[in-house]
Amino acid sequence: MPRRVPSGISAAAIQAYTDELTKPRNRRALWEKLSDFEKAGHPWYLPLQVMRFDVDKFKPINDTFGHEVGDRVLAHVARTMEAHTREGDFVVRYGGDEFLVVMPNCDLESATRRAEGIRENVVSSPLTVDGKVLGVTLSIGIADWDSRGTVPNFSDLLRAADKAMYLSKKNGRNRVSSL
Ligand code: GH3
Ligand code: MG
Repeated sequence: MPRRVPSGISAAAIQAYTDELTKPRNRRALWEKLSDFEKAGHPWYLPLQVMRFDVDKFKPINDTFGHEVGDRVLAHVARTMEAHTREGDFVVRYGGDEFLVVMPNCDLESATRRAEGIRENVVSSPLTVDGKVLGVTLSIGIADWDSRGTVPNFSDLLRAADKAMYLSKKNGRNRVSSL
């Protein structure tokens, strides 16, 4: 799938906004996107969903198979996310084994369907390393900002997505939760 270039950013600047390992955008690009939303007079992007993804038991993958294989896992997860999102969605490597997908103009039901699609796809496409199958699962949290018309507080929204993701961890991992 071709990379989607955010509007208003030159090709030369893309590198500065891209995570080198996994290709999705980095935190710096996220803050710019959120500040674009904040500056918009009309909240055209509502309802807005923020999905937070964390790879389950990633440390043991690094410990067992090595850091390089861990890197391959992260790149695989990122590609799956990119393949399951819409034009205009914003996939971000938030740090370590955590990713965000910001989905403007999307309701909770549709975001949940997409999150389930990503989760299932990652489960059903394990990597093979030295002849061994390496299964990967994701815990996902979704924060929903509905169409009440009020401009979201993005810090609250990110915190809510984090809380929802930890709910998925607490309830056994490899699942999607929402707040
Ligand atoms: P949990 O299911 O609770 O998420 O357990 P976990 O083992 O995945 O724990 P956690 O999310 O805290 O682990 C993240 C690990 O990701 C820790 C760090 O060593 C590793 N990591 C961070 N960045 C990179 C990277 O760029 N490449 C690789 N291979 N590992 C990384
Ligand atoms: Mg993890």
